[in-house]
Amino acid sequence: MNALPLIHGLTSEQVAEICRELGQPAYRARQIRDWLYHRFAADWSEMKNIPLSLRQALARRLALASATIARTQSEAGVGTTTKFLIALQDGDWVEEVLIPARGRTTLCVSSQVGCKFNCAFCASGKAGFRRNLEAGEVVGQVIVAARSLGATPSNLVFMGMGEPLDNYDAVLAAVRIINDPEGLSLGARRITISTCGIIPGIQRLAQEGLQVELSISLHAPDDALRSRLLPVNRKYPLGDLLEACRAYAEQTGRLITFEYTLIQGVNDSPEQARELVRILRPIHARVNLIPLSTVAEFEGRAPTAPVIREFLNILERERLNVTLRISKGGGVDAACGQLRASRLAE
Ligand code: SAH
Repeated sequence: MNALPLIHGLTSEQVAEICRELGQPAYRARQIRDWLYHRFAADWSEMKNIPLSLRQALARRLALASATIARTQSEAGVGTTTKFLIALQDGDWVEEVLIPARGRTTLCVSSQVGCKFNCAFCASGKAGFRRNLEAGEVVGQVIVAARSLGATPSNLVFMGMGEPLDNYDAVLAAVRIINDPEGLSLGARRITISTCGIIPGIQRLAQEGLQVELSISLHAPDDALRSRLLPVNRKYPLGDLLEACRAYAEQTGRLITFEYTLIQGVNDSPEQARELVRILRPIHARVNLIPLSTVAEFEGRAPTAPVIREFLNILERERLNVTLRISKGGGVDAACGQLRASRLAE
C-alpha cells in the first residue's frame, strides 16, 4: 500500500485539522471539501483556488486518487447499468456497478478484494480473499462513480465484492464520511449494508445509532439447506441469526430486508415459502425475492415464472412484506454476485 493516508478516508474534521496544522484559515478546509465531495476532484491540480504551495503540502501528506476507473462497461442505451473496474493504489482492483432505475441511481460498491465466505452461487467468493478495503477506498469508489455520473448517486448498497461486516471498522468509517453533511451527505436511510449473517457485526451495528438499512442474505428457510448454500451458517446458524435480527429491529426500530435468491429445485417449493413465512413472522421484515442470475461457477438456475409467482403469492397471502427484484446488469456481468475475477482470467 502507498505509505500516504488516503484523504477520502478522513473525516471532514480531520481534513480541517490538517489545514489548521498547515497554518491555513478555516475557509481552506471548506474549499477542499467542496473539491472532494461536490466536484469529485481526481487530482490536486484541479483545485485551482487552492494555492499551489498548499496543494503541494497536502500531496506530500495525503493521497487523493484512492480509486481510479480502469475500465467502464455499459449496457446499450442511455441511463443503463454501468460496471466500473476500479484500480486501487497497490495494483489490486474491485468492481462497482451504477444502476439507474425509477428516478434514483443506486451505486453498488465492494467492501473487500475477494471474499472469505464462499457462498455456493456467488462468483465473488470463488477467487478467494485478498484483503480488506480501507475506508478511503470505499469512499473513493463513490467519488469516482459520482464524478462519472456528474452527481452523488441517490442510493448506496454494499452488495458488490466482499462481506461488509467482515470489514466492519473500515465500512463504518466510510459510511460516516459518506453520510456526513459536510462529506458526501448521503442520507443513512439511503445506504444499505448487506450481510451473509455475521452476528457480532449485526449486534455492533445495532449500537451505532445510525439509520442505515440492514439487509440479510438469507436464501434458505432451514439450517441444513442454508449451511449448504452459505457455509457461514455453520458458524452463525439460522436461529441465532434470526434472534440477532429480531433484537436489531427492536433496538433500531428499523425494518430488515431479507434477500432470498430463488434457485430452481433448491429453495423454491411452496413448503419452503411457508417455512420462510413461519421463521420471519416474529421479525419486522421485508423479503426481497431475486431469481438466481446464472454464473459459470454454479450449476443452478432461476425457477420458471409460474414457480416464482406461486412462491411470491404464498408470501403475499400470509401478508409478508415482499418484493420481487428483477436483477439488472446481466448484460455487463454485473448482476448480483457476478462481480468477479474476469480481469484475472485475461
Ligand atoms: N457479502 C454480502 C454482500 C455481497 S452479495 C452479502 O452476502 O450480503 C450481494 C447479494 O447478492 C447477496 O444477497 C448475495 O447472496 C446475492 N447473490 C450472490 N450471487 C448471486 C447470484 N448468482 N444470483 C443472485 N443473487 C446473488
